[in-house]
Amino acid sequence: MITQEIKTNIERQLQHTRKITFLVGAGISAESGIPTFRGKDGFWTDGSRNFTPQEMGTKKMFDLSFNKVWSWYLYRISICNQAKPNLSHIELSNIEKMIPSRFALISQNVDGLHFRQESFIENLYLIHGDLRFMRCSESCSRELYDIPNSLIEKPRDRNTPILFDETQLLVCPSCGAETRPHVLWFDEYYNEYYYHLNKVLRIAKETGLLIVVGTSGATNLPKKIVKNTLARQGIVVEVNPNESMFTEHLKARKNGFYIQGKSSEVLLEMRRFFQKVLD
Ligand SMILES: [Zn+2]
Repeated sequence: MITQEIKTNIERQLQHTRKITFLVGAGISAESGIPTFRGKDGFWTDGSRNFTPQEMGTKKMFDLSFNKVWSWYLYRISICNQAKPNLSHIELSNIEKMIPSRFALISQNVDGLHFRQESFIENLYLIHGDLRFMRCSESCSRELYDIPNSLIEKPRDRNTPILFDETQLLVCPSCGAETRPHVLWFDEYYNEYYYHLNKVLRIAKETGLLIVVGTSGATNLPKKIVKNTLARQGIVVEVNPNESMFTEHLKARKNGFYIQGKSSEVLLEMRRFFQKVLD
């Protein structure tokens, strides 16, 4: 439920000319059946040891065990490929159509679901990479390569090691080094070329209304995005079923708001309200 106070603020921003930006995280894909991989669904078992996602999704682990890290990612890709976009993805695209020149979508999701719906979102910035692609682990070039179909066409179980023949497909076509998934790892830094670091920080400053949906606020860049928008007197509205690291901070400010609810339901209500104001 979007309160009258929040509606009044949204309406005011819609009538201005500043950007309307959505920052989304794993919460919006949860309704498609994709686990966040931060909890128990992300564990990788090896012998008697359980590795956490924070251990698996690192350059350090990749350097230690190429096979283990790729097996984990191919399993994750397999789950993503079986999932379908949900109402949240569709409503975001509907909202872009209403305000194409002012809309931006900044997504932390690497699951590819933004690309699996009927109409693509044009102003989309993937700040944690994209699991549809791999790249050279030695950075011989910045090129992204499709992950070979034969590796992802059949569902994979968790903890299934990759076979020798399969490792032969995970090599850089240009220098022959191993490839790596095109994602930002826990022990790596954001950058402009792959993750649009400066671009999204600039967008945040130009944003009059920032809607933060389904993200816990645990990583650095989302926090900076929220900070940049608040600093320029933009409105920030958080949508989450449970309070996050953003919530208290937002509630303490007069330009910060929190809506408790499921992302698809709130986004549907929001799109309808946008329509009413813009008509
Ligand atoms: Zn290479």
